[in-house]
Amino acid sequence: MPTIETEIRLLGNPATGELLARVPLSGAADVDAAVAAARAALPAWRSRSTIERARWLFGFRQVLEAHQDELARSITREMGKTFADARAEVGRAIEMVEAASAVPQTMQGRVLENVATAVDCETFRQPVGVCAAIAPFNFPAMVPFWFLPFAIACGNTFILKPSEQVPLTQELVFNLIHEHGGLPDGVLNLVNGSRDVVNGILDHPGIDAVSFVGSAAVARYVYERAAAAGKRVQALGGAKNFMVVMPDAVIDKTVGNIIGSAFGAAGQRCMAGSVVIAVGDAKRPLLDELVTRTRALSVGDGLEQSTDVGPVISCQARDRILGWIEKGVASGAELLVDGRRPASRPAGAYVGPTILDGVTPDMEIAQEEVFGPVLSVIHADSLDEAESGAAVRRYRHDVEVGMIGVNVGVAAPVAFFPFSGWKGSFFGDLHAHGSDAVEFYTRKKTVTSRFFSGGETGRFFTEQGDRS
Ligand code: NAD
Repeated sequence: MPTIETEIRLLGNPATGELLARVPLSGAADVDAAVAAARAALPAWRSRSTIERARWLFGFRQVLEAHQDELARSITREMGKTFADARAEVGRAIEMVEAASAVPQTMQGRVLENVATAVDCETFRQPVGVCAAIAPFNFPAMVPFWFLPFAIACGNTFILKPSEQVPLTQELVFNLIHEHGGLPDGVLNLVNGSRDVVNGILDHPGIDAVSFVGSAAVARYVYERAAAAGKRVQALGGAKNFMVVMPDAVIDKTVGNIIGSAFGAAGQRCMAGSVVIAVGDAKRPLLDELVTRTRALSVGDGLEQSTDVGPVISCQARDRILGWIEKGVASGAELLVDGRRPASRPAGAYVGPTILDGVTPDMEIAQEEVFGPVLSVIHADSLDEAESGAAVRRYRHDVEVGMIGVNVGVAAPVAFFPFSGWKGSFFGDLHAHGSDAVEFYTRKKTVTSRFFSGGETGRFFTEQGDRS
């Protein structure tokens, strides 16, 4: 689609600084064009048989699998995470397509025969209309796929706005969709840009539903503005994730989980564990092993096989993260592992894995999302102080969060289950993917039918009164 009077943003590879692309920053005019295409495509697409829509997804699943490495390389080049991590991310996107292709089953409605004499009641699920999703930078392939396959499986048409920091992977996906064929024009639409294009989506009267994933402040803003415009909205924001280590934890496995959670994707996952609470005697063995293994991690370009931790998304993000480390130290934390200038990559958008010990719950570093490879350690004498009960079950029952891992470092639910945090991490009511996706992408229509047959009196109002 041609863009109209757009600004251009230069996009660099965070690992090398190499210029990757010039990204158009579109505005409301591009949103208008995308909405017009999506509206025009809607009547035919919502009328396609559910099985045909599911079959298209089956076919496209094979395309994604055949291009898994190419997509993963694109993720690493524009976002920085290691190639292995990027490949796993594409695997998650494929899993979303698999879950969405169950739509002939999941989109079924309900029927009750004989709600009154010769009266039946049935609820259908129908598409919501034109749906849009706005994505963050940290999962260039997966997060858009929390929405795209479910939206079109349910018969909606769809507009995607990827992060302007990582637009290339979705461009590749859309090229693959185009080459694969089988989708009428206008069912899927891509717009690039940042704030202006987001506002264009939030205000557009031709868009019926908006899904957002990004930082907490923008999630709240998106939720409020889109809801005020009468849209269905789900807005998933940032998070602060805590890991509790009990004295009887299996230390080597636990440390592996903590390292994967805190430093994987250079700490730029919404579910990155950023505070570890060591309970009682867990403290010494945990710290010894954690520090040794963290120091052994190698920092570098995610395309190099030896790399454990890639760059952060930009030099601006690096400076923000370094600011958090300084703040932690200034408030009294001890820098146990200092990643401020990793020896292997002293320049560029790199922050090495960092551990701050002696953090207390009142410190800002213990409360705010850092979104970088920085792990804070808090010590608690007892389970109660660690916010938990005497056992995992009690913790699971009492803790007020949306997702929990038990011996799992990154407890991201698989595609068949809903995904979201609670409280300040989420605005809306229906979570992403799983059964909630079908709820979000459909609206219910209930039909009550009365059937007359021979022998009826033909009287509409009965002695019991009108039952309608
Ligand atoms: P971000 O909020 O900066 O950007 C997200 C999207 O919003 C982008 O597409 C961007 O163009 C747009 N945007 C940014 N500022 C805007 C503004 N002022 N007005 C309108 N639109 C705006 O987030 P990010 O830095 O790309 O992503 C990282 C954040 O996303 C972290 O906080 C992370 O925890 C969160 N995240 C949350 C989840 C989740 O499931 N809850 C998943 C992934 C990432």
